[in-house]
Amino acid sequence: MKCGFDKELLTAWLNDQLTGEERASVDTHVAGCEDCRRELENSRRIWGLMDDIPSPEPPAGWVIGWADQEGRRRPGGRTNNSWRH
Ligand SMILES: [Zn+2]
Repeated sequence: MKCGFDKELLTAWLNDQLTGEERASVDTHVAGCEDCRRELENSRRIWGLMDDIPSPEPPAGWVIGWADQEGRRRPGGRTNNSWRH
């Protein structure tokens, strides 16, 4: 079922980019239109997922441990830590 409602308005609604009046018209339409309500729910879930993903922060010793392994794997490669500069 296609209702022809401007989906960009739904995106703008999610991003809080609408005026109060536009927002109210989206609210009203979505309340009575299952198609758009579903669209909105899907989009909101995607945005929610993006918000929930924690920024990848490895444990504190992870990078150092990795560097040590690299050094061990290539003996004589970088002996004076010149890569730090
Ligand atoms: Zn609709």
